[in-house]
Amino acid sequence: MRMWTFALVRLAGLLVVALCAGVLFGHVVAWLLLVISLYLAWQLVNLNRVDHWLRLRSQLDPPDLGGVWGDVVAQVVRLHRRKRYHKQRLVQLFRELRRSTAALPDGVIILSGAHEIVWFNRRAAALLGLKRPVDVGLRIDNLIRVPEFVQYLRAADYATPLVIRPPVGEESWLELTLVPYGAGQSLLLARDVTRQMQLEAMRKDFVANASHELRTPLTVISGYLDTLADDPAIDPSWSGPIRDMRAQAQRMNAIIADLLELSRLESAEGEAPRDPTDVPRMLERMQRDALAGADRPRHVLLALDSQDGLYGAGHELESAFSNLLVNALKYTLSDGTVRMRWWSDAEGAHFAVTDTGIGIPAEHIPRLTERFYRVDAGRSRDRGGSGLGLAIVKHALQRHGGHMTVESEVGKGSTFTCHFPKERVLTAGAAAAALAAAGGR
Ligand code: ADP
Repeated sequence: MRMWTFALVRLAGLLVVALCAGVLFGHVVAWLLLVISLYLAWQLVNLNRVDHWLRLRSQLDPPDLGGVWGDVVAQVVRLHRRKRYHKQRLVQLFRELRRSTAALPDGVIILSGAHEIVWFNRRAAALLGLKRPVDVGLRIDNLIRVPEFVQYLRAADYATPLVIRPPVGEESWLELTLVPYGAGQSLLLARDVTRQMQLEAMRKDFVANASHELRTPLTVISGYLDTLADDPAIDPSWSGPIRDMRAQAQRMNAIIADLLELSRLESAEGEAPRDPTDVPRMLERMQRDALAGADRPRHVLLALDSQDGLYGAGHELESAFSNLLVNALKYTLSDGTVRMRWWSDAEGAHFAVTDTGIGIPAEHIPRLTERFYRVDAGRSRDRGGSGLGLAIVKHALQRHGGHMTVESEVGKGSTFTCHFPKERVLTAGAAAAALAAAGGR
């Protein structure tokens, strides 16, 4: 501010001098004009020096100007320095960011709203066989043409990562996760999960092989136990232990059968086949078998609200439904009721088993489908449970695009419901046509 006062005082002083000179020597106006012109010229010279310096700022030192002009130059120098400092910091930050993303053990690809590649790191290039700069700007689904990936990109739900065989390296497995951000952009993360997949396969093979190997010795033991049980020459004091041994052998057989069924379901890749399956007849058969069994709840009811069937693997569906029915029979007292219901609606088809049994505490419900998970291990074992039944149900349903819901109240009973999507439903009309065609053949 002081600078401006000084400049104004100086201008006023010059005008006063011009005025005095005019009064002394005559021609006041001419003197005033002369002084103003000189003042203006001096300002123009200063302006020119500042302009010249601004143009060649990187090569020249700032001009040595006093007063208001000096202040302006000092401010420009300050601004310039600050800008340079921020620019350097940004460049440094950007370099560090690039170095760290390049060093990431996972592949990172930035995709535009139209799924075009904007940028990718070195690991992504190696994992997916991308090349810079030719692949930048191309749509990612033109480069990774695996149908599951194309479907995954189109779906709006990216919560579960997708595991695929990559376009390069046939022997490996890649896990891809899409993370949307900003205005329609997304990050595609790629991780090599070959080792995990190999371990998983080894685990599955091990369980399947071990179960298979145990089967033969167990059949032999069961055979001898059956013979011993029927042998009148055996001391009667042995009949109790032999009965127990037979029951345990039967349990082991059931566990092995469940383990084999589960590993078969797990190793079956992709979706279940789409064979026309007559669900109402299957359920009627299951009801008849349940009623024929000993020590069952008094009422085993079946409500067929629909005659629709399903497109699926008959054996897997039967295994899922009968596991639910067997559980309901197992955990319901003999004066209780077990109700099966089959119906379809706009969403698809549904199968529910409701019992008036012991029920399940709410905190256990989310974990029921885990392998060997039992609410009450002792009780389940007493009733011949392996803890694998619901895991089998979950896998079988998943292979049909379905899922299971559970409602239960301790002491009142439980309802297990299987839901199947519309595209798996074989409508009653289509089922009749399929049956007629099969009969005509
Ligand atoms: P299990 O062979 O032991 O029955 P499942 O996987 O079929 O194994 O079931 C897991 C657990 O869920 C069971 O141990 C039991 O505690 C509980 N459960 C399953 N169905 C019912 C039911 N209908 N009523 C009460 N509890 C049930």
